[in-house]
Amino acid sequence: MSNPPTDKASFPPIARVVVDVALDKEFDYLIPVEMRGKLLTGMQVKVPFGRRETEGFVLGFKEKSDFSGLKSISGLAQEGALLSPKIMELAKWMADYYVAPIEHAVKTVLPGAVRKRGAGFKKQLFATPGEKSAIESELVPLRRQAPKQAAALDILLSGEQMLMSDLVRAAKVTHGTLRSLEKKGFIQLTEGVQGRDPLANQEFLRTKDLKLNSEQSDCLGKINVGIDSGNLKVVLLHGVTGSGKTEVYLQALSHALALGKGAIVLVPEIALTPQTVERFRGRFGECLAVLHSHLSDGERHDEWHRVKRGEATVVVGARSALFAPVKNLGLIVVDEEHESTYKQEESPRYHARDLAVMRGHLEGCTVVLGSATPSVESLENVHQGKYELAKLGIRADDRQLPLVKVVDMRHQRYEGKPTLFSNDLVEGIRLRINLGEQVMLFLNRRGYSKNLTCPECGFVPECPDCSVALTYHKRLGYLRCHFCGHAERVPDRCPQPDCKAEDWQYMGSGTEKIENQLARIFPHAHIRRMDSDTMTSKHAYHHVLGAFRKGEIDILIGTQMIAKGLHFPNVTLVGVVNADATLHMPDFRAGERAFQLFTQVAGRAGRGDVAGEVLIQTYTPTHPAVQAARRGDFDVFIDEELEARKMLNYPPYCRLICVHFKGENEQQVDFVSGQVFNELDRLLGENPDVNLAPPVPSPIARIQKNYRYQMIARVPRTKLFTVPLRHVLDGLKLPRQVQIIVDVDAISLM
Ligand code: ADP
Ligand code: ZN
Repeated sequence: MSNPPTDKASFPPIARVVVDVALDKEFDYLIPVEMRGKLLTGMQVKVPFGRRETEGFVLGFKEKSDFSGLKSISGLAQEGALLSPKIMELAKWMADYYVAPIEHAVKTVLPGAVRKRGAGFKKQLFATPGEKSAIESELVPLRRQAPKQAAALDILLSGEQMLMSDLVRAAKVTHGTLRSLEKKGFIQLTEGVQGRDPLANQEFLRTKDLKLNSEQSDCLGKINVGIDSGNLKVVLLHGVTGSGKTEVYLQALSHALALGKGAIVLVPEIALTPQTVERFRGRFGECLAVLHSHLSDGERHDEWHRVKRGEATVVVGARSALFAPVKNLGLIVVDEEHESTYKQEESPRYHARDLAVMRGHLEGCTVVLGSATPSVESLENVHQGKYELAKLGIRADDRQLPLVKVVDMRHQRYEGKPTLFSNDLVEGIRLRINLGEQVMLFLNRRGYSKNLTCPECGFVPECPDCSVALTYHKRLGYLRCHFCGHAERVPDRCPQPDCKAEDWQYMGSGTEKIENQLARIFPHAHIRRMDSDTMTSKHAYHHVLGAFRKGEIDILIGTQMIAKGLHFPNVTLVGVVNADATLHMPDFRAGERAFQLFTQVAGRAGRGDVAGEVLIQTYTPTHPAVQAARRGDFDVFIDEELEARKMLNYPPYCRLICVHFKGENEQQVDFVSGQVFNELDRLLGENPDVNLAPPVPSPIARIQKNYRYQMIARVPRTKLFTVPLRHVLDGLKLPRQVQIIVDVDAISLM
């Protein structure tokens, strides 16, 4: 339910309120009669909480509560609602489509930092000098009597107003010194609001529009027609890496701004680097707001309100920036639209690309989906005429796409043994670093070895709480679970009672091992590793990228983290160390993902004056994704992929909904999933459109002590399954110990 009827009689008596002191829980409150008919979702209210009063935020309404003795809302904390009717509608659609509680949806569209009024505007004290002419005559005696006060005054007089804390620091005095100056009437201390600008103290070079090439102009034209129309239009901008998609976005954004409209640009969190922000800020200056996960609550609060007030008209951010309260929205750009990080992995499990189209529909705006390797879903929408295709086939700067070579690892030996690095790769690296150029090496697996194996009995140490092998991290000397973080020392001997062998065999290589071995081959090279093990602090990422840019690092090794959107002109060689680690995932999307990843990684090479080279090392050189990446032949790959999906009835030819069941007691999980399935089966009857498979243990059968089962439905339209599913879930009395998670348009089936 979103906003209830406005007549008092039929107004539901109970509101669901999330309170400031417990941000993740909702409470029921009675709505006083005089407020019925006026209260809206998104309003801020005062409520009694324990023995005091606190503020809260209305998430929804109810007819009945499971609790007795409810307290009443005491009043409004503020006039008006924080959510616009359109965003409220979007939240409602999201809850409905993704089978999630409306409360979750509302929390998703409104950041905690904004809901929580405590985070409010930051009040600070400012110091302002009094009348100059009056003070100056007093300065001479002051210098003698109170040199510190005089020093502070001197600084303040050289400008206008200063933050009190800045002045304290600059004059090396205490707050008391300034208070004394205030008492003497030399200065005034006043409270004011200081915006916390995450980009403060950074300088940005203003940039101008580049002259577009003819392909770019065509694409821009298609987008601008949409913006002018004021109706929903979706353009899929398919451009090879370096084809100048970003320049097209920038000019489309300018066009929207010139018409007095606002815009949102979504980029994957990992691509939201200072470099990316700089490009947008360079064009839009103060009109730009940035929203990402590294902001403090205060910064997020201030940025959000800057957008709400209309001071910032272009928002750049990760997934959740889609819900920014931009006024008169004219354009939404979703860069790297194929990225799986646009899917939220907790309730509501929404896909930001799909919701962007929904918001575009509600607001009547243009949506641009950009990628070098568009998703099969978006391409299918082009085929069906729902989206318009705009293509960029050449690099904007006339640089050649890098030469991609596939190295067959089956024939590579080093001193008679299989090796991590082929001759081609080692010699390639040597050549490049001798020339003062840079190298990036990509491996989709962190840690040192994938796992340990007992060479006698084959035992593999697993996580006690998850059904996965533990990964060996050499530097830490630990085995770690990559699902729950569990860590333990490497056992001295095999723990199997009748084995007890004393050696371990180290299977599979991770980034840590690559780094170690490379350091042995190139003892004088500067090598750095970038993965979630080494990037533990929020600045580490920017620090390493900065050092790489300055040429202080010769070889950068990394996981997905280094594959996205980075632009380093001096990188001339990119190596995919073990393509097979990506190719052979047990998932029908593995081929598509591998192709996207290889193409993205390859796009990092040759962005400067020297042509780039890419080496893909693999034991399956004939794999279609490898061959397509080598030839850069997107269309052939996609045609084959779509053909296969059609035959197997997989997305985009159906909607896939995965229902997860989890709990600590396996029998209960088994029982509940069976019951839900049976009810659904009965309800759906012989409907030939619904393909529902009985529940089975998930590929990773246990995570963090929880047993996991899943049930997969494939339907031509989502509602055919989600409506009966909701009906069943609402009707069944299920044990609380089993959690049911619905994943509509699931992209991971693990
Ligand atoms: P993409 O986003 O498609 O990967 P970019 O927008 O990063 O591509 O463009 C790649 C490079 O080409 C950038 O250095 C950009 O400044 C440059 N570029 C883009 N468009 C033009 C143009 N019309 N003329 C000259 N250089 C351009
Ligand atoms: Zn674990």
